[in-house]
Amino acid sequence: MYTNKIIPEIILPEVEKALTFYPELKDVPIEFKFKKSIKKSTMQAQPVFKSFFVPKEQRAYIILISEKFHIEDEEYKITDMEKEVLIGWIGHELGHVIDYKDRSTFGMLIFGLKYLFSPMHIKEVERTADTFAVQRGMQEYILATKDFILNNTRISPKYKARIKRLYMSPEEIMELVNKQGPKETEKKVDKELEETPS
Ligand SMILES: [Zn+2]
Repeated sequence: MYTNKIIPEIILPEVEKALTFYPELKDVPIEFKFKKSIKKSTMQAQPVFKSFFVPKEQRAYIILISEKFHIEDEEYKITDMEKEVLIGWIGHELGHVIDYKDRSTFGMLIFGLKYLFSPMHIKEVERTADTFAVQRGMQEYILATKDFILNNTRISPKYKARIKRLYMSPEEIMELVNKQGPKETEKKVDKELEETPS
């Protein structure tokens, strides 16, 4: 099914589900790791520091997952989230790994610096991750995650505004799905025609 993964038992089913959408990450080393808290975010994908200067083909990644999810003053355990929401969240992070995978070491350095200093760049990067996830068929999960954040009355307007500013909206995701819809169907039909013995 896959190799080179370190996955905490408690989120194993959700991570495995998300991984099924990314066959190209089957053998890429990825560790999923809980952390007490992560500044400003709930999950974060990054290259493993000690593998930073090895060729990109050998690079390993770590996806940090905050143990708790903060909604203003209240704390929730990440594992209390609905499965679909969690799968969507993990799928988005795997989208980041896809984005990093083909970047050179130098490219990753520039990328990291830009992420620190340019809000425009953050927006681009976050949209890229969502786009990869949707292109691989994860739209229902990505939409579940958005819905969880945007339609949750307990989540602060400030956090919602940040998500709205930086991430794709549910409408944009639907647009993306509709755009790729016919192409995907065409491909399937073509394949079936090829496979049909004449
Ligand atoms: Zn992200």
